[in-house]
Amino acid sequence: MSTNTNYSFFKNVEKNFDKAAVFTNWDNGVLRQIKECNSVYQMRFPIKRESGEVVTIEAYRVQHSHHKTPCKGGIRFSIAVDQDEVMALAALMTYKCAIVNVPFGGAKGGIKIRPKDYTPYELEKITRRYTSELIKKSFIGPGIDVPAPDYGTGEREMAWILDTYVAMRPGEIDAAGCVTGKPVSQGGVRGRREATGLGVFYGLNEVCNTQWLMDKVGLPLGIKGKRVCVQGLGNVGSHAAKFCSEGGAKIVGLAEFEGAIYNYDGLDVDAVIEHRKKTGSILDFPGATNFAKSQDALEMDCDILIPAALESVIHAENAGNVKAKIIGEAANGPLTGDADDILNRKGVLIVPDMYLNAGGVTVSYFEWLKNLSHVRYGRLEKRFTENLNHHLVMQVEEMTGKAMNKVERNLIMQGPDEISLVRSGLEETMITATREIVEIWQGNPAVPDMRTAAYICAINKVATSYAELGIFP
Ligand code: GLU
Repeated sequence: MSTNTNYSFFKNVEKNFDKAAVFTNWDNGVLRQIKECNSVYQMRFPIKRESGEVVTIEAYRVQHSHHKTPCKGGIRFSIAVDQDEVMALAALMTYKCAIVNVPFGGAKGGIKIRPKDYTPYELEKITRRYTSELIKKSFIGPGIDVPAPDYGTGEREMAWILDTYVAMRPGEIDAAGCVTGKPVSQGGVRGRREATGLGVFYGLNEVCNTQWLMDKVGLPLGIKGKRVCVQGLGNVGSHAAKFCSEGGAKIVGLAEFEGAIYNYDGLDVDAVIEHRKKTGSILDFPGATNFAKSQDALEMDCDILIPAALESVIHAENAGNVKAKIIGEAANGPLTGDADDILNRKGVLIVPDMYLNAGGVTVSYFEWLKNLSHVRYGRLEKRFTENLNHHLVMQVEEMTGKAMNKVERNLIMQGPDEISLVRSGLEETMITATREIVEIWQGNPAVPDMRTAAYICAINKVATSYAELGIFP
């Protein structure tokens, strides 16, 4: 965490916005409207703990932009939650959705608790009470505002939210679309759990396949063989590490609360996760060197550093020690403004959060569409396509006089199922977004960095949407 207690995450988002706004042609009134948070709901409610003690819970839901509805964004459970943080994260959601063409306004929720301090029963009570507060003020609904998992929450909490919503709004046909990131049995979509981490991989893979970007950092083309460090082995970090490794990168460093580990020859991510499950720590993993602090991972020798935990972990005091040539922001806001300046001056390529970690919301969008259509992806066309492909294979075999081997045959014949459709939709989204941002950056030599290019992309899309609504001349 930054040692500067006066640091405002929201102000930093505004600063980045302003840096990009000068490269657009929108007037100041328009830009100011885009920047502001449209609705901020701060609540306090009591919860009786299992011990009988009554505690007051502080929570928020911020809707940053109503230029498109519903609003969309996760809910985090963290002791660091405050209004400034939730506002910043909600704003990032607006820009993130715009960049990946997901038709939502940005939102974010937060409950100021340390989840480890509460029993599952108490967490359920808190989640359900929070949901009913949102319902009371019309801050949730498939066409209003759709929460999702974030730091400290997951499928279990989303199922509680849905169940509370359904109980309070009986008969609402599209109720399942009031929240995403649900278990598949509760209307979730296959592929949502790993979506953010997989999106980080697709994004970084495309970055590494872009000659212009690799020339900037002096690294060879392709993700294969690149040495990667990941800070944070939660849902996002662990999947990002796994997919990068499957894509040919070498995971040399990993970090969790208890410390960090490094092995120049590479770490087996699954084995490290297994080791942590067994021993309660990633430390003492066979063949790896221990580091006392999680933050040590940020300064490790590698090509790509992926901070995948909380915001502001790289700041003025440690930015100068970062050795990576590329930083892939899997977390939201892992760099303070000072760190951004220092690293840009050093020529580090910072692949910005609001585009790189957009895989989660992209697949949330697919889940929401599934809920509104009330049908699983691939259900109608899978067998039809397989039958068609079967005929094609037979024709080809007849024409060539050669039988295909089993592997080839299965590959060609398979019809689309939910997981493959979701993943290919995500891959397409991340590749297109990377190319759009790079095009903006390449097209204007005065644009200083990739984050600014991403903001320009977002501002133009949000402003155009307001203009098309007739709100701006
Ligand atoms: N919490 C995730 C994010 O920051 C996902 C949001 C969503 O799926 O709505 O992007």
